[in-house]
Amino acid sequence: MSTLHNFIAGNWVPSASENTRPIYNPASTETLATVSLSTAAETHAAIDAAHRAFPAWRRTPLTDRVQYLFRLKARLEEDFEELAKTITLECGKTITESRGEMRRAIENVEVACSASVLTQGLFSEDIAQGIDEFTIRQPLGVCAIIAPFNFPGMIPFWFLPYALVAGNTVILKPSERVPLTMTHVFRILEELRLPPGVVNLVNGAREAVDALLDDARVQAISFVGSSATARYIYARAAENGKRVQCQGGAKNPIVIAADAHLESTVQVVADSAFGCAGQRCLAASMAVLVGDARAPFRDSLRDAAASRITGFGLDAVQMGPVISAESKARIGGLIATAEQEGARVSVDGRNPRIPSFDNGYFLKPTILEGLPLDSNVARTEIFGPVLSLHEADDLDEALAIINQGQYGNMACLFTASGDLARRFRSEADVGNVGINVGVAAPMAMFPFSGARGSFFGDLHGQGRDAFQFFTRQKVVVERWPRAVSRLF
Ligand code: NAD
Repeated sequence: MSTLHNFIAGNWVPSASENTRPIYNPASTETLATVSLSTAAETHAAIDAAHRAFPAWRRTPLTDRVQYLFRLKARLEEDFEELAKTITLECGKTITESRGEMRRAIENVEVACSASVLTQGLFSEDIAQGIDEFTIRQPLGVCAIIAPFNFPGMIPFWFLPYALVAGNTVILKPSERVPLTMTHVFRILEELRLPPGVVNLVNGAREAVDALLDDARVQAISFVGSSATARYIYARAAENGKRVQCQGGAKNPIVIAADAHLESTVQVVADSAFGCAGQRCLAASMAVLVGDARAPFRDSLRDAAASRITGFGLDAVQMGPVISAESKARIGGLIATAEQEGARVSVDGRNPRIPSFDNGYFLKPTILEGLPLDSNVARTEIFGPVLSLHEADDLDEALAIINQGQYGNMACLFTASGDLARRFRSEADVGNVGINVGVAAPMAMFPFSGARGSFFGDLHGQGRDAFQFFTRQKVVVERWPRAVSRLF
């Protein structure tokens, strides 16, 4: 069985760390490979390489840098199925979900190819007599990306292609729980023959992250993960003077008005709550049923949860396992706490029987009813296939539920009323809004937003925000007195 290597300065380098961990298929619990948790010294070697590569890379014309992205897109398409399969094997989601994830990763490469337009500066002639003023967007230097486990293929691409094409050099640290997908992507990057040190892969956990946060040569940190880690990384990186963007956790409410279309809404809400086994930062976690929506939607959501087919993601199923035994135990524990806090478990997905996968980290969809809004579980990100049902008399009450939560990643409204929809999109204090959409995941040309406890920083991943994050604006005010030049 293989032990994964780091990719530093154009070479695959074994880690000397004695701290290793197995990578599991969460459905079968089979060990797929072993990953070393790199030391600070190994992380510094990657920073050295990226730092050395930067001066020549930033001077490589953008029109040449973008050619690597065109080739990257083509190679990702060629390996598309294999990459999707790797995601399913190490992360557990269904193959359809993994394909969707890789598609969004590739879309980010496509959008990053528009760098020649989106990194242009501005120019104002004659801002005073004989004086012009303009801006230049310049790369930052060494940029580090720290990724979570739940989208091993997509999330690094919210940042990597933009950072590269803008002229930065990059160090990626994938989640130590799912490093296989990025190992494959880096084999592709190796084939593209980028100059050594322009892209580097460091496997690891906290020690590697702290080395990135504390090294003065690292100019920028892009992080996605839980809010607790996001807060820590945001504070430490900012203290060290770095540019930083941290996307954190979520607790996403979905509001269903009485005029919402029953069948399609139930299907979309169930896909949002239980798709990817609820391990999406845009998973519906609370459904707020407004007025007369209560009875019909409660019954239909229970049916949708109870009938979802759960199993190994490469088989014909609708939902895979959660990532680990610890996650399964944590989610089961939160369901038990919810019961103690007054909830009724109307659909109970604990201890499911999954034929041929007896030991896998499976939970089936679970529905909680009557969970008090001020309970711990109603305020905690569960990150599993659990949906709590709540009630509100009108849209105002539903908006109050959304806006009093500590997170602000996504909120959705299901309705046939344009008036309600307009109010909702304006007043819901979240970064991503869905109207009759259950997973309001922004396309690559839009920022992947987030607000309040779900995001720390200013500029997000993807699209124009990513170009702004990975470039620094320089303003030039320029005067050329006429008398100076006697050449003409
Ligand atoms: P996590 O915070 O445990 O880990 C994320 C990354 O941080 C990993 O690379 C990990 O190695 C590193 N890390 C973890 N603890 C650390 C510490 N103490 N010091 C330094 N580094 C540390 O998150 P996860 O469990 O991998 O991912 C799930 C979380 O990510 C959920 O909360 C989910 O909502 C969130 N998420 C958010 C978004 C978004 O866009 N807002 C997208 C995907 C996932």
